[in-house]
Amino acid sequence: MQWFEQTSSRPAVKPSQTRGLSSLLAFPPALPAPLVGPGCACHPGRVAGEWKNWSGSVQCSPRRQHRPRDADEVATILRRAHERGGTVRPLGAGHSSMPLVATDDELVSLERMTGVLAVDAAAGTAEVLPGTPMDELGAQLVERGVAIDNYGDVDYQAIAGAIGTGTHGSGARLGNLSSILVGGTLVTGTGEAVRFTRDGHDASADLGQDALLPAAQVSLGALGIFTSLTLRVRPAYELHRTNWMTHIDWVLEHFHELVEANRCFDFYWYPRSDLAQVRMLNEPGDEPGIRPPGELRREETGPSYEILPNDRHLRFEEMEHMLPLDPELRAFREVRERVKAKHRTRVGWRVLVRTIAADDAMLSGAQGRPTMTIALLHNASLPHEHYFGDMEPLLLEHGGRPHWGKKHTMRAAQLAPLYLRWNEFARVREALDPDGVLRNEHLSELLIGSSEGA
Ligand SMILES: Cc1cc2nc3c(=O)[nH]c(=O)nc-3n(C[C@H](O)[C@H](O)[C@H](O)COP(=O)(O)OP(=O)(O)OC[C@H]3O[C@@H](n4cnc5c(N)ncnc54)[C@H](O)[C@@H]3O)c2cc1C
Repeated sequence: MQWFEQTSSRPAVKPSQTRGLSSLLAFPPALPAPLVGPGCACHPGRVAGEWKNWSGSVQCSPRRQHRPRDADEVATILRRAHERGGTVRPLGAGHSSMPLVATDDELVSLERMTGVLAVDAAAGTAEVLPGTPMDELGAQLVERGVAIDNYGDVDYQAIAGAIGTGTHGSGARLGNLSSILVGGTLVTGTGEAVRFTRDGHDASADLGQDALLPAAQVSLGALGIFTSLTLRVRPAYELHRTNWMTHIDWVLEHFHELVEANRCFDFYWYPRSDLAQVRMLNEPGDEPGIRPPGELRREETGPSYEILPNDRHLRFEEMEHMLPLDPELRAFREVRERVKAKHRTRVGWRVLVRTIAADDAMLSGAQGRPTMTIALLHNASLPHEHYFGDMEPLLLEHGGRPHWGKKHTMRAAQLAPLYLRWNEFARVREALDPDGVLRNEHLSELLIGSSEGA
């Protein structure tokens, strides 16, 4: 039994090696599955099989699994599903811990639609395909002299999947990954391809001219399937990362200063000690004077896309909430007290605190407010329900909005009041997927409410 967490350092692992490992972790072995019916148009013979997510807590048996090669094949899959009254769920790298992609009908992996299509350095944009893994995205962009602003904790996701749930890293002046989406093409629940930009969109449905981008930015695969995405990029840059081990009290005392002074800053507290690991990332030559007292564990400089993410080899479950940024860290202090009082005999995994800039995406956890996040982790092979169940109400009391891709128990009636633009998103969803082709049971509970069903 793994009661304690071990994290591993990234430096020796090249991106290509990381991808190979993560692919093994993320996907069940490629089918050959038993042939149980006629194959799909885009991948004849690839019909049925089991699917499970990265942590193993979400499993399903799709009737069909598709791996389209282009937007036309995606449109055909959706149009046919619409005609027969079926349902379709788009799949990224399968790293979400909620059943967002689970289906017993049609599952569409975008793993064959990868790569950077075009970069317009002058406009600061890049057009990319939806299945592009985050590490490949970084490497391909840097070859063209550009990079994205930030990364999450790992780079195993596919870009459309990461954007789909509002995946974020840390940095009070940096938005989540969804906030760099500035345009793209979405194939809707009726099989219609809709092109959207910052300036509007070409949907025949009446959405309001500027509604699609802020709806699409965090859309859980509920509006359609992205077949291309236009991302905001900047000139490629290097980062210098330092990892410190220090006393948690020092971090709490200097939290505001650390947030303000660093481009990216986060900290982990380890429940069975008073130690915290502090990560600070800045452009070389732009480092702040503040240095934690304690041990400098690691330090590295390199291309941003290699320095920002970590490697995570042990599987875990996680609950994370986005809360209003509070320099006093009141929510974290309460979390810490409760973990010490009730949970740390069974839980040794880290509690992680990060920040995100405010944005305007309708379902973003950072919508309308500078944000801090608190994440609780636990070994995937141990029960997490008691721990997460006890902490969720506390995070909600402090204004928390749950991460869509991590464990939570929230449903539409509780979620709606937390999002200022909830009803706008519902209108866009009804216009783009009027017959619920892109729903599954979980999305129905999440976005509509049980009374209206799947
Ligand atoms: C080890 C690990 C580390 C993580 N670290 C972080 C972190 O630092 N920060 C953070 O915020 N989260 C983090 N997460 C959560 C993770 O980033 C999100 O759950 C993310 O959405 C997973 O991306 P994915 O490519 O695996 O997508 P999936 O989980 O496969 O799908 C996510 C959503 O995107 C939709 N989708 C996928 N492709 C498309 C498409 N082409 N068109 C439309 N919709 C689509 C799916 O339907 C689904 O709703 C982590 C998860 C793990 C397992």
